Formats: sequence, structure tokens, C-alpha cells
Amino acid sequence: MITENSRLAHASLANDRFANVRFANARVGIPAAARTATGAVTRRTASLAATLVGFATLLGNAPAIAGDTLTILHTNDFHSRVEPINKYDGPCAAEDNEAGACFGGWARLVSSIDAARDRDPNALLVDGGDQFQGSLFYTYYKGKVAAEMMNALGYDGMTVGNHEFDDGPEVLRGFMDAVEFPVLMSNADVSAEPALANKLAKSAVVERDGERYGLIGLTTEDTSELASPGPNVIFTDSVEAVQGEVEQLTADGVDRIIVLSHSGFRVDQVVAAAVDGIDVIVGGHSNTFLSNTDESAAGPYPLMVGDTAIVQAYAYGKYLGELSVTFDDAGKVVEATGEPIIIDGQVVENEAVVSRLVELAKPLDEIRNKVVAESGDLIDGNREVCRVRECPMGNLVADAMLERVSDQGIDIALMNSGGIRASIDKGEITMGEVLTVLPFQNTLATFEISGADLLVALENGVSQVEEVQGRFPQVAGMTYSFDAAKPASEGRISDVMIAKDGEYQPLDPAATYGVVSNNYVRGGGDGYDVFADKADNVYDYGPNLEDVVADYLVANAPYAPMTDGRIVAE
Ligand SMILES: [Zn+2]
Repeated sequence: MITENSRLAHASLANDRFANVRFANARVGIPAAARTATGAVTRRTASLAATLVGFATLLGNAPAIAGDTLTILHTNDFHSRVEPINKYDGPCAAEDNEAGACFGGWARLVSSIDAARDRDPNALLVDGGDQFQGSLFYTYYKGKVAAEMMNALGYDGMTVGNHEFDDGPEVLRGFMDAVEFPVLMSNADVSAEPALANKLAKSAVVERDGERYGLIGLTTEDTSELASPGPNVIFTDSVEAVQGEVEQLTADGVDRIIVLSHSGFRVDQVVAAAVDGIDVIVGGHSNTFLSNTDESAAGPYPLMVGDTAIVQAYAYGKYLGELSVTFDDAGKVVEATGEPIIIDGQVVENEAVVSRLVELAKPLDEIRNKVVAESGDLIDGNREVCRVRECPMGNLVADAMLERVSDQGIDIALMNSGGIRASIDKGEITMGEVLTVLPFQNTLATFEISGADLLVALENGVSQVEEVQGRFPQVAGMTYSFDAAKPASEGRISDVMIAKDGEYQPLDPAATYGVVSNNYVRGGGDGYDVFADKADNVYDYGPNLEDVVADYLVANAPYAPMTDGRIVAE
């Protein structure tokens, strides 16, 4: 009942919230008819007592000042995971879902948000960006499914993630036209981009219980390198952009400021320290898990930097962030507490959403059946081959990875053969076949590392070759030899040559190399700890691997599978 009411309030507020949106170069005219709904909000104070009981139960202590506490529910880096995920954030099989072994998905997210709104019907729901990209629901529908889901869940605001630009400004605009809440980005000049000018605002004001809250969007400054915003979107300094918006909002009498930031946990701390007047930063982009109870967390929830509370809730809809913020009369944070809520198999899936997803999934078979390219021969991806020596599928995947980012200062590609799950036979290649080879929804990860550390990585790669392990490195842009007769991790690797400007040169231990791998290996998977510990300029969230390989096959059709002696077994 409470949830129902708050939904209605959400829906009726949409226009009013848009009316308060601030643009880069002009105030938007406010149609008088649009400003009618605020009365619906204040009506909800009746449920305040119930809210307080809810908090006391949840947090074990009563909030300091009644009515001055705001609950912020938040998600980030959802990446189109509308269906349940497994513990590796990839697709979860139906039988595992039945058994309660899956996480997340739209049908569980709605249940978690409903439960949170039972605790506080006035809760704000916001997103830290990167709803786009990551499953066939995005590939097929682009932003449409994300818009439908976020409208149904009653989001109050969102910032633009770099992946929201993956298909250019027009697709982002289509998404913005479909959603009933503000999508924000303060640190860019979009006035020269027709799809976004006078549409993509820097900040917006939302109301709760008679209080006004300023939302400011912030997007990673290197989005032009990570996605496709086009030449007309000019990114600017984050600190200056946010400071400017804070000052404008404060001048308008809005002193409760929430930054929705798709900039990563590190930048969020810099912004919090450098900008005066931010109360809360709801983050994204670095998929950072913060918690007060889980030892694997990157920090406490929230992390306080001065008076600013920073939160983020991992990624892929596995958690719903729930932060309770108490403000004093001057709009300063006096207390911020909470914990991300895990959305695991215990959370009941909403039946209506499950049915809707079945319907939405029907056309996805079209993608799986779509012929993307053809191969002149078998592309051998057999694990018995690819985990012990150079193999045609390893070369295809590594070559595709390298070509995708070779204009970003990347010299070599390294792919764990364990990420290669199948062969592709001669003839037509469907997207379904590519997905069978690369089913993990892994993303391209780029980084820099020293020649010496790269050697350590290669030693790890061949350290278990006699056990046919998935760490065996398939490569591009380089060649190497290995001798499995030598002791593991003690000089099996020799003759490493790296292609620089088309010419192969011996690996220089002191030099720095640009590497592309997948996010799993970059994070230390398959024993590649050295990448987790020593890599610099890391970016783990590039395009999905299966899309990169499909694009490469299209560009090189008919594809001629090959080995060329880049890996020599002595
Ligand atoms: Zn991102």
C-alpha cells in the first residue's frame, strides 16, 4: 500500500522535477501546467513514524533528527543485467536460479527496492551510470529496456556513464527521451551536439518532505577514449564543474547536494576533498564494493572524506545501496550510515517482471541466429590445444582484442585460454557461436606494465601447462618461447619479442608496455596477480569480448584461421 502511494507520487512528480533541471547555457522555461504535483509529496509525512521504526530496526539505533533524514537507494554499473547473474556476474542458468544460486536481475531488484521503500517511502532512488552495454538486451534494444526498467522502478535521477555513449549521442538522447527522470552530466560542454544541447542538464533539484536536494551529474573525463561521444561533446575538469554547480545550487537556496558520479572511487575522493559543499557522492565506474561487514570491501560504507559521504554498490545489480543521511539545519551531513543490500537468491523475483523479461527475450534468438561472418576453415578452440600451445581460436581472439585498442597505445594482447570455451566450424558463423566461445560477458581491460612484470605474467601463464590449465596465454603483438621441462615460474619463458611499430624487438625489462587483456585476468584471475598488483593506467570496462571478436570477424570475412608460430614450445 505504502509502495503503491509512493509510486504514484513518483510518477506525478516527474514533470515537476524536469522543471527544475538546469542546463549548461540557459534556464529552461517552466510550463505552468507542469508545476502541480508537489502537494502529493508532503502528504506522505503520515508514514514517518513507520519509517523511523524501520530505521531503528535496520540500523540498531534511532536517527538523530526526525524528518531530516534522507534515505538514498542507489545502483551503478548495472550493465544491462536484467536477467539473473551467477557469482561471476555472467548469465545464470535457469536451474541454478530455481535452486536459489543466482543474484540480481530486474525481477529481484524491484523486490529489493519495494522492501527498502517499505522501510522509508520517501527514499530517493538514483543511479551512478553505465546502465548500457553488457547483455543481448542492450545489443538488441539499446537503451529501451533500461528506460522501461528504470521508469518502472521510479528512479529519481542518474548520471551519464561512459557506456551510455557506446552508440553515440543519438542513442543516449533516445534513452533520455524515454525516461521520466533527469539524466545529468556537469563536466562537459554539449552545446555543439544537437542530440544533447538543451537536453542533457548539469544538475536538477528533487524534493522530499519539503526539502530540496540538488543532484549533480559527473562523468569520467576520459569518456572520449572509452566510448563514442563524438567530436561535439567536450569533457571538462570534474572539480571545477562540480564546484560551479554547487555554487549555483547554493545560490538558489539548495544546500543539500548529492553528486551522482561515474568517475570511479579514486576520483570521487579527489572531488570530495577539493569541492566545498558536497554532502553525498553516489559513485560508479570502478565497480567498488564498500561495506562495514564484508572483509573483501574496498572501504567502509560510506567512506567519509571531510563532511562528504562517498558510496558505491559494486555493479551488475548484485547490490542495492541504502544510505541514511541526517542533515542539520544548515544542510550539512551530521550522520551517514548504511550498508549495501545483497540481492541474492533469497530475494523473491517479481512474477510480472519475470513474464515481461520472457517476452523481451524472444527476439534475442534473432541475434543468436544472426550470421555475422564466415570462416574458411575450422577455428580450433579445443581446450586440449589452446591450453598448451598456440591455437587458431587463441590467435583470433587475441588479434581481435589488439586491433580494437591498438590506436590507444596498446602494444600486445594477452588472453587466458580458459576464457575460450569452444571451436567454430567452417562456414557461416552466427553470433550464438561467438557467444558459445566467449560466454562470460568479460570486457576488454587495458593497462600499462613493465617488461619485467610482463615476464612474470608469462611465467605464470606457462607454469601449469602440464596440467592443461586455463592460464596458458594466447597472445598478439608479441612472440615467445617456453620450455616446460624447466621448473615452473623459474625461467620457462625465453625469446620474448614485442612488436613496436611493426618491428619485433626483444622485451626490455625496464620498458613500459601497453597491454590489453580481459577484466578477469587483469583483476588477477588465473594466477595473474602481477596484473592486479603492478598494472598502471588500468581500465577494466571496455567493450564486451564477444562483441569485439564478432566485429573483427565481420571486418575480416571470410576469416582465414591460422597459426603463425608466435608461440614456440621447446
Ligand atoms: Zn564506466
